[in-house]
Amino acid sequence: MPHTHITIIGGGIVGLALAGLLANTGRHITLIDHGHPPTAGLKIPYDLRVAAINHASECIFKSLGVWDAITALRVSAYQKMHVWDENSPARIGFDCADVGRNHLGHIIEYSVIRQVLYQYLAGHKNIHLCYETKPIALQEIQDGMVLTLENGEYLHTKLLVGADGGNSWVAQEAGLITRSKPYQHSALVTTLKTEKSHKHTAWQRFLTQGPLAFLPLAGTHQISVVWSTASEHTSHLATLPEIDFNETIARAFEYQLGEVSVQDQRIVFPLTEHRAIEYTRSRIALIGDAAHTIHPLAGQGMNLGLLDAAALAQVLMDAQDPGKLAILRRYERWRKGDNELMLKAMSGFKQLFGSTSALHIHARSLGFLLTDKLPFVKNYFIERAMGLSGDLPMCAKEPEFS
Ligand SMILES: Cc1cc2nc3c(=O)[nH]c(=O)nc-3n(C[C@H](O)[C@H](O)[C@H](O)COP(=O)(O)OP(=O)(O)OC[C@H]3O[C@@H](n4cnc5c(N)ncnc54)[C@H](O)[C@@H]3O)c2cc1C
Repeated sequence: MPHTHITIIGGGIVGLALAGLLANTGRHITLIDHGHPPTAGLKIPYDLRVAAINHASECIFKSLGVWDAITALRVSAYQKMHVWDENSPARIGFDCADVGRNHLGHIIEYSVIRQVLYQYLAGHKNIHLCYETKPIALQEIQDGMVLTLENGEYLHTKLLVGADGGNSWVAQEAGLITRSKPYQHSALVTTLKTEKSHKHTAWQRFLTQGPLAFLPLAGTHQISVVWSTASEHTSHLATLPEIDFNETIARAFEYQLGEVSVQDQRIVFPLTEHRAIEYTRSRIALIGDAAHTIHPLAGQGMNLGLLDAAALAQVLMDAQDPGKLAILRRYERWRKGDNELMLKAMSGFKQLFGSTSALHIHARSLGFLLTDKLPFVKNYFIERAMGLSGDLPMCAKEPEFS
């Protein structure tokens, strides 16, 4: 039976990043994903899946040495963020200059990050990438775990990491306690062409129906739209004739970027709040969406997952036995508090901004006004969202601060 030190189930961006962060430790790492390996090249016009990647995530990619390859393919840096509310005059602007930076973050296509990480990993002899199969059974033995794969192979591992997304097989199979609660929202995602330039600004309008975000893509008149709204409304939007869809989106966005026209298919993601109560057990750890799945309204899920990967890689760095519970608990203590805070904040925001009660409208107007007018409050939010503050793993800090 093949022996491996660490097995990662899930080759999403978080699982790939963890494999990368462990690549130079000399340990034998196996990564298993039931999907296809990432393919090289750019999607036309854009990959429908894009994420707002913050400074901490950028630092993690830089520490892996893959950032230049990512930016060489296609990224969109944004300098400003503009947020406003449907039911009140409240609005707020964030500018990278307020915190002395030249950007707030980057909008990056998932396929761009995945292919670069995959190519990086493929160059390491100690990394075994195993696609188009999945684990079907797990057995704990004295010094590790034995995984049975769908393709009939067996694998002995010292540590099994679940990076297998919101409906984690690893969490279920290991009996880790998890809680899930549908947000009763789905997210509609597509690519739009806009009449006016996006001005390298990320835009978000809080509507009673749910937040509508315009994320600036590399072309100055192309944006990725994410509208998180009641599931019946998303289904309606997904099936509207193109001309009506364009008009609905432009109107909901108050024509801030003029007329819009849809450039690709419309995809819908059901949204569920999911949290693992336990991130670890002896020889098991969960990272990324397998540990916490949050509402995309603040664009933080992947950024948090990358911090999980970085924190776990750091605690494992000098560990003799990577499956030891005491070591894995250090990772859990480090990351769970931060992730829980974000989960709670997202639930609170969703409720506050989805409400038409006079009290809630007043509360958010006041919140916007105070945040906009008090530089220390505003800078606190910017720095938190950019991943410039908090208890960051070494590789997520900018070199001069690490
Ligand atoms: C509409 C939307 C917009 C978002 N925008 C942002 C944003 O702007 N910024 C941000 O930071 N986050 C954003 N997020 C969140 C972000 O997409 C997720 O947090 C992130 O993709 C989680 O990555 P992951 O690798 O943990 O999980 P996933 O991306 O779900 O990857 C899991 C992987 O595991 C594999 N897998 C699953 N089960 C098995 C199994 N049993 N065996 C083998 N393989 C398996 C899957 O094939 C997949 O490759 C957004 C989410 C949504 C829905």
